[in-house]
Amino acid sequence: MAAIPKTIREAGSAGEEAKDELTRLAEGHLVQPWPVSGSIGAEARGRLEAGEGIYVTDAAGRRLIDGPAGMWCVNAGHRRKELADVMAAQAMELSYNSPWYTTNAPSAILSKRLADHAPQGVDHVFYTTGGSSAVETALRFMQFANNVKGRGEKKLIVSRQGGYHGSTYLSASLNGRPRDHDWMDSASDQVIKLACPNPFRRPDGVGAAEFCDYLVAEFRNVIETAGAERIGAFIAEPVMASGGVIVPPDGYLFRMRELCREHDILFIADEVVTAFGRLGHVFASQDVFGLDPDMITFAKGVTSGYFPLGGVMIAGRLLEELRRSNHSEAMFAHGLTYSSHPIGCAVALKNLDILEGGLLEHARAVSSHFQSRLKALEDLPLVGEVRGMGLMACIECVADRVSNNPLTLDLEVGKRIDGHCQELGLLVRPLINMCVMSPPLTITQAQIDDMADILRRGIELTMDDLA
Ligand code: PLP
Repeated sequence: MAAIPKTIREAGSAGEEAKDELTRLAEGHLVQPWPVSGSIGAEARGRLEAGEGIYVTDAAGRRLIDGPAGMWCVNAGHRRKELADVMAAQAMELSYNSPWYTTNAPSAILSKRLADHAPQGVDHVFYTTGGSSAVETALRFMQFANNVKGRGEKKLIVSRQGGYHGSTYLSASLNGRPRDHDWMDSASDQVIKLACPNPFRRPDGVGAAEFCDYLVAEFRNVIETAGAERIGAFIAEPVMASGGVIVPPDGYLFRMRELCREHDILFIADEVVTAFGRLGHVFASQDVFGLDPDMITFAKGVTSGYFPLGGVMIAGRLLEELRRSNHSEAMFAHGLTYSSHPIGCAVALKNLDILEGGLLEHARAVSSHFQSRLKALEDLPLVGEVRGMGLMACIECVADRVSNNPLTLDLEVGKRIDGHCQELGLLVRPLINMCVMSPPLTITQAQIDDMADILRRGIELTMDDLA
């Protein structure tokens, strides 16, 4: 048996035998996220060894376009020296400080710069370690604020079918994708789920023109039935990401916001995916949708995935209300060892320089080419719809284009397309019968053409498999 490599560098230079050993190590000791019990703790997923720009290299040495940018996060692209350098420099300057007792320069500066990009008045930041902890923080803040205000009943959370908000207990309780709850416990008594705002899969008998009214009426009904005095927050991804890149009908988000305002329900925009350039702006809420949420959760693209960081933008007015309450002794007993991490915040500052220094503009400039090249795949019989916005898109496959029936799980169409595309040089994020694309924002028009050509071929080969 080959010696066990202790570091990736050692493994990388130790030849094929050692690489196989890496697979054995993973199978023997690594528990990967979202495993099925049949292979839990005993699987090694395809290993990536390097990345550069929009490309990653796998263990077989194949160079692949990183179609999903990791998990919607490597916005500035792989192997950016300036991000690596700032990480090292900050580690040498101040590698950690306790957010309980102290603060640091990068988090103070970052907070001001994020506030400048957020809707007016949404000007404070609570930093977390990622998206789930950001959502959890927003929800716990809502609970706390209502307790302090003496309205402890006002804590129900309204989310949507198809949404994804995280993997901590409360954030996961909001999720509404198929299979999210089949085997998992959740705080279901604290959550109400509305219909998915997916124009492609409207309820029977609801026309495209009435769909928005239908969704808003549903929310109004829920408020009437449950009682506004019991509903604390509504949470929505402006464009639902993992649920299949669902762009809601025009006016939907604004009208849901108005209902929230009317009933004193906090509107939480979950921008874990849509922020930091994915839709061409630092935050999409206002700049894309004209929304002014009470809180905005973010993560992923804030550091382009180079360091685990997330956070919640909070309207200053909500904090002011607490400062002026009768309970100045009430503690928001919530915090993380790595809140306001100096290295994470330093990386985020440099990442923001990159975005402001031309990458946002570039993302806006190439997004129509990206959308139109993918939209053209709708001429393939397996493709029911291609939809998207900015640099995020979804190709949804169907059993037939008359009924638009989703393909059954066991056909694993997404996985098949991904398998074929990987052979051809593209990583795809498969979601049952869908493929989600969200490449690094640095992608050029020519690279978009390569990506679309490979996808087309991958889907054609999948159609041959199913014939
Ligand atoms: N919110 C949204 C919209 C997400 O897409 C995700 C993750 O994909 C999360 C929250 C959870 O983020 P994390 O995985 O960083 O905890």
